[in-house]
Amino acid sequence: MEEDSWQRILKRSLKSPEEIAHFFDLDPEKVKKIARNFRVQITPYYAELIKAKGDALYRQVVPDPAELEEADGAADPLSEDEDSPVPSIVHRYPDRVLFLVSHLCASYCRFCTRKRKVGDLSQIHPRHIEDGIDYIRAHSEVRDVIISGGDPLMLGDRRLEHILKLLREIPHVEILRLGTRMPCYLPQRITPELAAMLKKYHPLYVNVHFNHPDEITEESARALSLLADAGIPLGNQTVLLKGVNDDPAVMKKLMQKLLTVRVRPYYIYQADCVKGTAHFRTTVEKGIEIMQALRGWTSGMAVPYYVIDAPGGGGKIPIVPNYLHSVSDEQLVLRNYAGELFVYPQVRPKKERRQRIVPCAAAPPQS
Ligand SMILES: *Cc1c(COP(=O)(O)O)cnc(C)c1O
Ligand code: SF4
Repeated sequence: MEEDSWQRILKRSLKSPEEIAHFFDLDPEKVKKIARNFRVQITPYYAELIKAKGDALYRQVVPDPAELEEADGAADPLSEDEDSPVPSIVHRYPDRVLFLVSHLCASYCRFCTRKRKVGDLSQIHPRHIEDGIDYIRAHSEVRDVIISGGDPLMLGDRRLEHILKLLREIPHVEILRLGTRMPCYLPQRITPELAAMLKKYHPLYVNVHFNHPDEITEESARALSLLADAGIPLGNQTVLLKGVNDDPAVMKKLMQKLLTVRVRPYYIYQADCVKGTAHFRTTVEKGIEIMQALRGWTSGMAVPYYVIDAPGGGGKIPIVPNYLHSVSDEQLVLRNYAGELFVYPQVRPKKERRQRIVPCAAAPPQS
């Protein structure tokens, strides 16, 4: 494959409101209005995968008038800007940072958590990259850098390599991670040249983003295989979305299919409270139902963490179905994946005994 062929495909993306409206038979005025709020773009490759108006792939990328109707939700639901010492860095956890290096994506997800910044050059600007590197260099506690955006693979190989090289020169940076949706939106971006370049900067992890089994095509499998063959461990992040994957059977198929292309499911995110995305949000009970339909019913490798990124900047909090039925001094009563109860005998030193059975839900905080 020629080096610039992905760029040529990208150029043929559906971009202008007129094109989008024409392609999907929508009102151009409405599309124009929505595009003013959040950029619209769909690669020809992904547009081709859409089979019907309103299907799971359509809903992710085609602008919906519902985006304008909702008054609730925040521009910055995770309060990332409060944890942002320089514009390109979000430093929330003790030992790792998010490093935003590109404002562009190949296609724009209508539910994007970072839509206040993504698609906007003034928000994520190349001149901020240097400040980000300086920040990481000055903070020796940062041992893990998550390169994100936007999509970092919107940068050309040379620009990206420059950043990777600078990061690798910082002694306290132990691991690099790269978050990208390219294997899903524009798998042609993953070239042998890119894989050979990335390979030089190990230990490097790549987290991809697939939300539906139909997104895993022959082309995306080829892209992922190039990365995996370069020794890059692959993880996947999925957003739980109404009308896309809020169905245990769909989610199970997605997780199983990811393993067949050597991608280990990492997170399922409860949809964030982003302004203009309420039509995508499910209940948390739906997420718990999905997790219960995975654990035990399929490979443990196929079971990611289900997390809520707490509004206000609390970070990712895991939500786990309750498998602990009750606890006493002598025993735990456990519920297995199929709902059957089992007893695990417990050994507890006498002085710690509480002498009563405490149902888990009502268990008092232990001091
Ligand atoms: C998700 C996230 C990370 C990485 O979290 P892990 O659980 O280590 O994958 C780091 N910083 C921010 C701000 C994040 O949102
Ligand atoms: S690819 Fe990621 S950053 Fe880009 S629009 Fe989608 S969710 Fe947002």
